[in-house]
Amino acid sequence: MRVAFLGPPGAGKGTQARELAREWGVPHLATGDMLREAVAAGTRLGLAAQRYMEQGALVPDDVIIDLMRERLAAADATKGFILDGFPRTIAQAEALGKVLAETGQALGAVVFFDVSEAELLRRLTGRRVCRQCQATYHLVSAPPAKTGICDKCGGELYQREDDSEKTVRNRLEVYTRQTAPLLDYYRGHSLLRTVRGEGPIDGIRRAIREAAGDAR
Ligand code: ADP
Ligand code: ADP
Ligand code: ZN
Repeated sequence: MRVAFLGPPGAGKGTQARELAREWGVPHLATGDMLREAVAAGTRLGLAAQRYMEQGALVPDDVIIDLMRERLAAADATKGFILDGFPRTIAQAEALGKVLAETGQALGAVVFFDVSEAELLRRLTGRRVCRQCQATYHLVSAPPAKTGICDKCGGELYQREDDSEKTVRNRLEVYTRQTAPLLDYYRGHSLLRTVRGEGPIDGIRRAIREAAGDAR
């Protein structure tokens, strides 16, 4: 199973990837999570990425490509993976294709999450994330049992700084300009599968299983 989840910020990629990675027994490779960890740890990568992330801009391609080249070479990723939030530019997609080809691998499917802009704004501004395990909640549509506490691990929930309304608008623009061209790119490679990303989380998960079936 070698799948990439593609979609605007807030489309539900992380929510679905966390469950499906467990189900499929493959790692969930989320560049946003990896970068936030690096920022929190104050590593060189974190220092290089922080100012871009705060503004809702993309971190430079060479930084992301180096990070993912290394991550994909790790033993747990050789049998499959779910990519979440990568690739986000044509240059990243081309680099990914090359990195996989070097070891005789290839993507099996790219699943696009189709969600309206009004819904994205609602989701992002109400999103809360667990500091400890990165599980994602929503104040209205997916609240935790106890306010501010993660159901899964008891960790503290927080609001990402880049989920403020102003930064969210910038991120949606960045998506349209830099990431949306990947739709045509992967359509051209016959890898694109579109899933309607609105409605109950379970129903969307079933649609993704089916869409990714080709990647098995
Ligand atoms: P979202 O929940 O909006 O999909 P992510 O957690 O995936 O957001 O990413 C958060 C931030 O991390 C992005 O706004 C960007 O600054 C940076 N980032 C994550 N993945 C990439 C990538 N593939 N290329 C460039 N920047 C990235
Ligand atoms: P992404 O990783 O694509 O940025 P997330 O998985 O973090 O998106 O989801 C964004 C927000 O939307 C979170 O608050 C999450 O709880 C909520 N969410 C995810 N899927 C759905 C859904 N099907 N319906 C309503 N809210 C959802
Ligand atoms: Zn947690």
